[in-house]
Amino acid sequence: MKAAVIHAPGKVTCDNVDDPGIQDDRDVILKVTATAICGSDLHIYSGGVPQPRPMVLGHEFMGIVEETGKAITNLKKGDRVVVPFPIACGHCFFCDHGYPSNCEHSNPRYGPEGGIFEEKGGALFGYTDLYGGYDGGQAQYVRVPYADFGPRLVPDNLTDEQVLFLTDIFPTGYSGVDWGEVKGGETVAIFGSGPVGIMAAKAAWLRGAARVLIVDTIQYRLDMAKKAANAETILWEEDGKNAIEAIRAATKGRGADVCIEAVGFEPDRTFLDRAKAVINLEKGSPKVLEACMSAVRRNGIVPVLGVYPVTYDNFPVGQFFDKGLTLRGGQAPAHRHIDTLLQYVREGKVILDDIITHRLPLTKVADGYSMFKKKEDNCVKVVLDPWA
Ligand code: NAD
Ligand code: ZN
Ligand code: ZN
Repeated sequence: MKAAVIHAPGKVTCDNVDDPGIQDDRDVILKVTATAICGSDLHIYSGGVPQPRPMVLGHEFMGIVEETGKAITNLKKGDRVVVPFPIACGHCFFCDHGYPSNCEHSNPRYGPEGGIFEEKGGALFGYTDLYGGYDGGQAQYVRVPYADFGPRLVPDNLTDEQVLFLTDIFPTGYSGVDWGEVKGGETVAIFGSGPVGIMAAKAAWLRGAARVLIVDTIQYRLDMAKKAANAETILWEEDGKNAIEAIRAATKGRGADVCIEAVGFEPDRTFLDRAKAVINLEKGSPKVLEACMSAVRRNGIVPVLGVYPVTYDNFPVGQFFDKGLTLRGGQAPAHRHIDTLLQYVREGKVILDDIITHRLPLTKVADGYSMFKKKEDNCVKVVLDPWA
């Protein structure tokens, strides 16, 4: 089959690889009909999340059930499903408590120098050996473990593009406002107007926010946030002080109730760069996190959606303590929200596919990664067709 394979930082190619097969009774094999490139994939592409061997990428995908393992009774060949991006068993301590992205029953995790995370648990499709080493869904077929827990049936009257972002970025954006305890009437500020930030803005309105402000360093990304999520936009200039001041000015000097971080690890810095920066006590990429902590009000909440694949980094601990902030974050518990969010899509309460700017055949995946990373051609979200 055809699949997007990462070989080295900056090198993703469409290769011919072996078809996946059933390995466990709870597996299904899915014929992928649509898949997307995520900002999280860029961390692998840039080398920020290292991957030592070639691997099939992709954790945002949907498709048609091709084959089912012996224990699968909820799905049959021909069913059309969308799949949440964390690989979760559904029955361990963390799955039982609503934290599928911390599931204990995934593959072991391997990192550079024996692993940067000490704790076992937490695996994703196509997200390096650090997250379980599972092949991903930027491919014609993918093996879906624990298929009696993850995949959700999709109604026939909705197109692939209408529901594809239920895999990750919409539940992730929604997790931001859920972690932010948005109940109605709040001012929500979002740093990062990429697909995740824009989905967080859509989710903030759904949860009754009074104002939604969004910050980015790139104007066309802000234009998309205005168009697709009706957010008030702020262009980050130089060190970002203007953005912090604008958010304070919008909130009687107090700061936003919730500041969502939707940027993450500086995409151009590798793991090694970061290690050197820490050793040399340089100030690192938490500048966005620091800005969130400045722009949020005292006792406010900072949900961190951006991925930080590093052990230690400079961190404004004094700000955290003095303001009495709540910090939350992690890979989003997509399973927890996906059914509610699918219902919103069915009822027409939210539209997700209006952020798609590029549709490419999987064979052009290299162009898709390059364009999305360099933010060329006003690219916001790339959807790949494995069969075109
Ligand atoms: P993206 O790269 O398209 O978007 C990031 C945006 O941040 C870009 O528009 C960029 O211009 C902007 N940015 C860069 N520096 C900034 C600054 N100083 N201030 C404000 N904005 C700035 O990626 P995306 O797909 O939107 O993903 C965003 C982050 O969310 C990534 O780190 C990704 O790994 C992470 N993510 C996390 C989860 C999760 O479960 N927690 C899920 C999906 C994605
Ligand atoms: Zn993703
Ligand atoms: Zn589990």
